[in-house]
Amino acid sequence: MEGRIDRIKKQLHASSYKLTPQREATVRVLLEHEQDHLSAEDVYLLVKDKAPEIGLATVYRTLELLTELKVVDKINFGDGVSRYDLRKEGAAHFHHHLVCMECGAVDEIQEDLLEEVETVVEKRWNFLVKDHRLTFHGICWRCSDNRAEESIDHKGNSKDS
Ligand SMILES: [Zn+2]
Ligand SMILES: [Zn+2]
Ligand SMILES: [Zn+2]
Repeated sequence: MEGRIDRIKKQLHASSYKLTPQREATVRVLLEHEQDHLSAEDVYLLVKDKAPEIGLATVYRTLELLTELKVVDKINFGDGVSRYDLRKEGAAHFHHHLVCMECGAVDEIQEDLLEEVETVVEKRWNFLVKDHRLTFHGICWRCSDNRAEESIDHKGNSKDS
C-alpha cells in the first residue's frame, strides 16, 4: 500500500498539489476498501475514524480532486448516489461493473472486452474513444446458486444429493 500511496503522492505533486495528512487519510481509506464502491459519506465516516477532526467538505473536495487527477473514477449505479472507485493502475479504460438486481452486490470485470466495439465506434462515428462506463444489471452467481438450492429444496431433495 505504501508504494501505491507514494505514486499517488507523485501524481498530486505533478499537478502542484500536496498530499496533506487529511488527503492521505482519505486515500488510505480508498485503498483499504478497494473492492467497495463507497459514497462520499461512506468515505467520510471511515476517514473520521482515522482523522476525527476532518469535515465532510474536506473529504468531498479531496474526492473531487482525486477524480480530476484520475486516481479515482466517479460512478453512479442508478440510485442517484455518486460512488468513488479507485482506478486500477495502468488500466487505459475504466473497468466494468455487474450490479445484482436482487442482492445489490457489485462485481467488477477488469478485462476491457470492448476493443472491437471501440474500433467500430471510431471508424463509423469517427469518434476517438478515451474511456467508457459499462454497467450490467442482472442476477449474480450467488443469487443464482441460492435459487438453484431453493428449487432443489422444494422438490424435497437434500442439498447434497
Ligand atoms: Zn469498480
Ligand atoms: Zn476500452
Ligand atoms: Zn445477487
